[in-house]
Amino acid sequence: MKPLQPYRIPFSGLKTGKHQFEYEIDHLFFDQFVYSIVKNGRLRAAVELEKQETFIILQFHIFGEIELNCDRCLANYFHKIDIKERLIVKFGEDKNWDDDTEEVIVLTKNDYEIDVSLPLYEYITVAVPYVTRCEDVEGVSSCDQEMMNKLKTLSNKAHKQSKDDAMDPRWDALKQIINKN
Ligand SMILES: [Zn+2]
Repeated sequence: MKPLQPYRIPFSGLKTGKHQFEYEIDHLFFDQFVYSIVKNGRLRAAVELEKQETFIILQFHIFGEIELNCDRCLANYFHKIDIKERLIVKFGEDKNWDDDTEEVIVLTKNDYEIDVSLPLYEYITVAVPYVTRCEDVEGVSSCDQEMMNKLKTLSNKAHKQSKDDAMDPRWDALKQIINKN
């Protein structure tokens, strides 16, 4: 069975009304999305599918932790997320839909299943914070201090190196040669 197969919900065989689906999302899920910025997680997703005659409402509740990489100390850490989203699925022939404010996906009358892996992936990706930092515990940074010190030393060395290079007269001579050509 393909890893994303369980995420395809065959709605055509479902009765009208509400149906619940549960998923565990971990690295096997993210492995299926080559460009995913999230590579690992410990998440659960509850998906409620409400089937009506002419449309379907999907309610998503995704909660748990995603593994991120700290911008500051480069360590991996787990970041809690809790997302609730709603998605409307309508069918191509239904032209009476006039609500543009909702997120809507359109299926044709021939479709018999909905793949919820892509919306799940998108909601999780959007939940990744712009700045990824180890979380502070009681006001104290939980960053890897040893790593921070190493990075600081490296950055100082690199800075000193570039200063030394700038003062080396051989670079000026070389620059002049390059500029002449
Ligand atoms: Zn950190």
